[in-house]
Amino acid sequence: MSVPIRSVPAAAVPQIIPHVIAGVRVGADAASAPVFNPATGAQSGVLPLADASVVATAVAAAKAAFPAWSATPPLRRARVLFKFRELLDARASELAAAITAEHGKTHSDALGEVARGIEVVEFACGIPHLLKGEVTENVGAQIDAHSVRQPLGVVAGITPFNFPAMVPLWMAPIAIACGNTFILKPSERDPSATLLLADWLAEAGLPAGVFNVVHGDKVAVDALLEHPDVAAISFVGSTPIAKYIHETATKHGKRVQALGGAKNHMLVMPDADLDQVADALMGAGYGSAGERCMAISVAVAVGDAVADALVAKLAPRVRALKIGNGMTSGMDMGPLVTAAHRDRVRGYVDLGVSEGADLVVDGRGFSLPDAPDGFFLGGCLFDRVTPAMRIHREEIFGPVLCVVRVDTYEEALQLINAHEYGNGTAIFTRDGDAARDFVHRVQVGMVGVNVPIPVPSAFHSFGGWKASLFGDHHVYGPEGVRFYTKLKAVTTRWPTSIRAGAQFVMPTGG
Ligand code: NAD
Repeated sequence: MSVPIRSVPAAAVPQIIPHVIAGVRVGADAASAPVFNPATGAQSGVLPLADASVVATAVAAAKAAFPAWSATPPLRRARVLFKFRELLDARASELAAAITAEHGKTHSDALGEVARGIEVVEFACGIPHLLKGEVTENVGAQIDAHSVRQPLGVVAGITPFNFPAMVPLWMAPIAIACGNTFILKPSERDPSATLLLADWLAEAGLPAGVFNVVHGDKVAVDALLEHPDVAAISFVGSTPIAKYIHETATKHGKRVQALGGAKNHMLVMPDADLDQVADALMGAGYGSAGERCMAISVAVAVGDAVADALVAKLAPRVRALKIGNGMTSGMDMGPLVTAAHRDRVRGYVDLGVSEGADLVVDGRGFSLPDAPDGFFLGGCLFDRVTPAMRIHREEIFGPVLCVVRVDTYEEALQLINAHEYGNGTAIFTRDGDAARDFVHRVQVGMVGVNVPIPVPSAFHSFGGWKASLFGDHHVYGPEGVRFYTKLKAVTTRWPTSIRAGAQFVMPTGG
């Protein structure tokens, strides 16, 4: 039975969603953008779009907060995060409802997003241990060496619509635990969740100016990329923008990690349990309406018999997807984030048909009688997709699963390795040899063995290869600590060991 989890009364007038700068909510910018509830299609918010002067105010606030925050002992910084973690945990449902109201994903899926974000906060709570340097006694006679990691200064995060809380939580807890101050530029589509993060960080004791939220579009992003007082940029979003961010920010002397788009394949071996595969593909392909960078959008079936059996198992499951308002319990997926994105995904389904793929399940006609203006699209399933088709080459980012047929494991591996993107992939098999070979040879950053969405835990690090990541560091985990700190190496000797007279020969350890 479908029951509303919590009714969110629609505001009569769209609410202004403010920036948070130096702990103060502000937002009366000349430019603004509408924010929608995708389940109803109604406008729910008005988002101020920062210009360069608003960004400069935020950078100045973050810069002013840096000396005191970076001098705060790591243990005390961690204690703020411990409190923040408790607030997040206690209020997860509220945060999830804020996500669902603007993104559209189901409340239970949004709770999962919050849980994965909390795991990164928990990792960041261990920062006193993570920041420990290395020491070597006697690198030369009575000379000691040690290394320390120090924060960079003001750092910024620019985040996508599809995980409005989790992706900011991939970045900010680690950055601020390391002693940096942070400016978040969230997606314009679903910005409200970040205000809860800002409020709860303040409530946990974070000093004003350490975490700031600035809303905006390209104008605000460019102002961050060019500002001389911003030391580093973390970006997650689509590949063309990731590439642009990496090029522009590095040109301005910044450290950059820019995660891009994806096209994730699941390789299905003949010995795999196809019921398990079909269930895994349903969750990984259609969960969050396919709007996940780790969604599986292509199943590569080895052999026609496997493909026939798999499509026969998938088709009724796709037709039976429960689609509705994400606040109604029991739904499998909600709407897409905007009408424009829904139309773009629908356009890809049209394209697949014209390219000659076999559209086994057509969700283009889906609409919800209770919410005819919601941005809904039914699940779609393509069979006999070929590698050259655009629906295989390009990221669709919607509830559209493609099945590609190959004759051999080797052909499947080459197909995956030849793809432009390299974010995530999975193999489903009982054959340990095949799995081991796949893990070793596949040119993808995150690999699952009988795990459809292999998102690394918070104490590992997340990142793709090829066009899925620009820069050298993955996000969160140990790589996050490295990204948000710079290494200092110190060599020490005391007067009794210093010989008289200048030495002109290169010193050595021997
Ligand atoms: P997007 O690239 O449109 O936007 C991401 C951010 O960049 C937003 O904050 C947006 O305001 C900003 N932006 C957009 N256009 C810009 C421009 N021209 N100049 C400067 N800034 C600009 O991405 P999206 O649609 O919000 O998110 C979906 C994309 O993100 C998908 O491609 C998905 O695969 C990707 N993604 C990747 C990962 C990953 O870990 N690799 C994770 C989540 C999402």
